[in-house]
Amino acid sequence: MIQADKTYQVGEASITRIDELRLAAFKFDTLYPGGEPQALERHRNRLEAGSFDAATGTFIQSIHSWLVRTPHHTMLIDTATGNDKNRPEIPPLHRLNEPFLARLAAAGVTPEQVDYVLLTHVHADHVGWNTRLVDGRWVPTFPNATYVFSAIEQAYGESLATGTEPTGPARPAPALGPALRKPADRVYDDSVRPVIEAGLARLIAVDGNEAIEGISFIPTPGHSVDHASIRLVSRGEEALFAGDVMHHPLQVYEPSLNSCFCEFPEAALRSRAFVLEDAAERGAAIFTTHFAQSSVGRVSRTGGRFTWQFI
Ligand SMILES: [Zn+2]
Repeated sequence: MIQADKTYQVGEASITRIDELRLAAFKFDTLYPGGEPQALERHRNRLEAGSFDAATGTFIQSIHSWLVRTPHHTMLIDTATGNDKNRPEIPPLHRLNEPFLARLAAAGVTPEQVDYVLLTHVHADHVGWNTRLVDGRWVPTFPNATYVFSAIEQAYGESLATGTEPTGPARPAPALGPALRKPADRVYDDSVRPVIEAGLARLIAVDGNEAIEGISFIPTPGHSVDHASIRLVSRGEEALFAGDVMHHPLQVYEPSLNSCFCEFPEAALRSRAFVLEDAAERGAAIFTTHFAQSSVGRVSRTGGRFTWQFI
């Protein structure tokens, strides 16, 4: 894999991070409530300065989108928070005004050129640029794109947004264990329903099968009801876009830490263990959504422990 100007080459695909926010918002107790503080102390000296402000004990994180260009497609994986979104419950994300589309343009891509938007899950900081505010209405930002995401995430989001009892696919699978929290209000209404109403959504089963050539959605539920990690395979090389399976490199060293945003904690633990094992075994590059620095790395395993290396 070659890296040039923050663009990674994985087989025939080139992958570029499109930045939205750099966050220095959370300390251990807020990001990992209930986690034992020794978990941080044990690994403090492994955390690089770009990921941890040792003076204040604050985690440094990122919110961004991944631009994936193949010989056939121009895709975005997750769409960050978006501008003008009303998120009073999450102050760092409330009514942003960030030059995200200018950064996309600087990478050589206009909204009209994006032909696929792939979503790991339906949370505020992953679906925001699905839409933008035009004359008081939320309209799809990428008018020529097919937005591909979980049918279960859609059904669950719709039932919560409309206050109807979840039935059928909208009802969380019992194997997920109890739900500790729900997705933030309004996210479905302003960032998901408009792309469905515009006829741009393709709702899929997250089952590991190929959804688009070289792309599959791997089940990693728990952070959300049907969270997917997106696997890209090209010419024998692999990338795994792991969404919110982890929020910070500390969780590679301490996989038992669940973030304060994980909805189904029991399943989130299982999915994190799966991703770490899988990535270590396959040697795939992991493209994260919230790690700072390059946001990309590899996992290796020694005995029962995992190590993270940024690349
Ligand atoms: Zn997230």
